[in-house]
Amino acid sequence: MNKITIIGTGPAGLTAAIYAARAQLDPVVYAGIQHGGQLTTTTEVENYPGFREGVTGPRLMEDMSAQAERFGAKIIYEPITRVDFSRRPLRLWADAAEVESRAVIIATGATARTLGLPGEAALMGRGLSTCATCDGFFYKGKPVVIAGGGDSAMEEALYLSNLASEVLVVHRRDEFRASQIMGDRVRENPKIRLALSCLVVDTISDEAGLTGVKIKDLKTGEIREHRTDGLFMAIGHKPNSDIFKDFVDLDATGYIKVHEFTKTRTPGVFAAGDISDPTFRQAVTAAGMGCQAAIWAQRYLDETGL
Ligand code: NAP
Repeated sequence: MNKITIIGTGPAGLTAAIYAARAQLDPVVYAGIQHGGQLTTTTEVENYPGFREGVTGPRLMEDMSAQAERFGAKIIYEPITRVDFSRRPLRLWADAAEVESRAVIIATGATARTLGLPGEAALMGRGLSTCATCDGFFYKGKPVVIAGGGDSAMEEALYLSNLASEVLVVHRRDEFRASQIMGDRVRENPKIRLALSCLVVDTISDEAGLTGVKIKDLKTGEIREHRTDGLFMAIGHKPNSDIFKDFVDLDATGYIKVHEFTKTRTPGVFAAGDISDPTFRQAVTAAGMGCQAAIWAQRYLDETGL
């Protein structure tokens, strides 16, 4: 029986593991299919405190993982595929094995939706990105394209307008999904141009990375080439919450609802990081939530003495 099981090894899961291990709770951490989470798909991380010169995403996650293991966290490289939190002890399934646990921290994150363009995977971090706050700085003085018409796309366009030489927002409809105020700010920004009823349908690249995109006008069917160094896909995120839906409350888009920071509706089950955060979605905020969840879990175990 585990005292505490942590699902996910992004900044939330690994920070929870560091705190739980240092509290002598012998955490068992399941890594899932992407050990290290979304940060392993980015290159330089320059906004995580403590790294004067920046750090690469994979290196940051490797070090967090090693730090958790140094204090005794056990990392298992298998995804959790099913859970039953309806009775005590809490039960989880990894491959064929059944695991019992007194407390669980869900830190399975969210997956950024992408356009599914040809060659997309190879160009991630070399011109393609799903996070302007993370990667925008590398496009200082360069032209960029944003795909999407929601609040995230607007926010990213406004953020990038302070860095890039020009910003083109490509949205598949005539109207934005974004709130009026965000849409207005984008329309009024002289550095941002719009391509409405348009879709990015292909990438153009050389050995160094992205050099342009192909944009289809959905009204005329015409496809034109547009030179750009960066394509930011801001078409939403999918929280990885499917297997938990019967035991926690989800909002309309699938994020786990928490109260008092990281508590779910099931006692002993906590949620931290992007799985319960549609708003900030930063590594540092996820790490902070991981810390909160571990401290709550420790108190829960102390109080219930299960
Ligand atoms: P979202 O609201 O779901 O918007 C996604 C956008 O991407 C939509 O415009 C959608 O087009 C487009 N899209 C989806 N799939 C596409 C595809 N395959 N090809 C091309 N375009 C595609 O997602 P979000 O912008 O990430 O926002 C998520 C939530 O967080 C929202 O509730 C939002 O209000 C909130 N949020 C708020 C703020 C803020 O207030 N500052 C900032 C960020 C996010 P359609 O419009 O045609 O469906």
